[in-house]
Amino acid sequence: MAKLSLEHIYKTYPNGFEAVKDFNLDIKDKEFIIFVGPSGCGKSTVLRMIAGLEDITSGTLTIGDTVCNDVEPKDRDIAMVFQNYALYPHMTVAENMGFALKIAHVDKATIDQKVHEAAKLLDIEHLLDRKPKALSGGQRQRVAMGRAIVRNPKVFLMDEPLSNLDAKLRVQMRVVISRLHQKLGTTFIYVTHDQTEAMTLGTRIVVLKEGVVQQIDTPQNLYNKPANLFVAGFIGSPQMNFLNAKVVLEADGVHVVLDNGINIKVDKKRETALMNGSYIGKNVIFGIRPEDIYDKTSFVEKHKDTQFTAHVDVYETLGAEVYLYFNIGDTKVTARVEPTTQARQGDTVKFALDLTNYHLFDKDTEVAI
Ligand code: ATP
Repeated sequence: MAKLSLEHIYKTYPNGFEAVKDFNLDIKDKEFIIFVGPSGCGKSTVLRMIAGLEDITSGTLTIGDTVCNDVEPKDRDIAMVFQNYALYPHMTVAENMGFALKIAHVDKATIDQKVHEAAKLLDIEHLLDRKPKALSGGQRQRVAMGRAIVRNPKVFLMDEPLSNLDAKLRVQMRVVISRLHQKLGTTFIYVTHDQTEAMTLGTRIVVLKEGVVQQIDTPQNLYNKPANLFVAGFIGSPQMNFLNAKVVLEADGVHVVLDNGINIKVDKKRETALMNGSYIGKNVIFGIRPEDIYDKTSFVEKHKDTQFTAHVDVYETLGAEVYLYFNIGDTKVTARVEPTTQARQGDTVKFALDLTNYHLFDKDTEVAI
């Protein structure tokens, strides 16, 4: 069983820098876990501690049923794939892939069989006699993965494995990695700063900021129920719009009023949270995703209570969708609308909000209300 548990893990580097603070995570067998966050948030540090390439300052790392804090990397039954591939240039693809087995004195027939099985899985059988310099970046990355696969590890660790590839290849390799995970039925732990990779690959995602876990959840929940302003802004592209809003108590209950005058009566659950949190009369942050702002006439006419007009600064088409950029007060806002939109740069456009999925955050703590 390839379950892992990280309990109260801290990492302080020798120069005194605290890179990871109180990291807690239970990983189930066969999960695809993603560590995501901006550069320097500590993703690689956690991964390297799991691999045994970095000491754990305090806390407990358990792999299977064994506490592994002091277990040598080679004895952890883990394989790591790096972004720079780290292939031996003088060896062929087959030799690179079989090298770990060779030094473990596995017999040649078994090595050949495992190398061919892995090559087939990765669709690189035709490259087995080539040297790394005769391969493209995407092919090298497959070889690096093949080298990990032949060892049949309990856990795969991947540190930004696709970051050296161009955008198209990254999309292709994402699919390869997804299939690999399904076929191997092994636990994957994968580091990326790319939220699209995180959302498409992960069964669960750990969002990190400055060494602290912000939220651990499924891609769907991170998107729909972000725990705080950071997660709300980090997950989703274009990012969620944030507007200042005032909480007011009216005769029929609690409302939030946006800077452009839109007045929203909140649902019962939020009303209770706002009352209990003593938010009446205070400002909060209102969040709405670009796809929940509509310019389609039929929608706008039906949602008069959330209608507003704005001057479109920029019109950007991606083919299947269009982004409209405008200001509400001093705040820059993006709407993701249908490609059939008539709106263009310079137009004054009528919009309306879909309030099925809006978010509220505390202005000071930035925690979701
Ligand atoms: P990136 O996406 O840029 O790779 P990351 O989230 O993986 O970033 P880490 O490499 O884990 O970040 O680094 C976390 C923090 O620890 C960074 O601020 C980094 O500068 C610092 N750090 C990493 N290695 C050391 C070290 N050996 N000594 C001191 N500080 C370090």
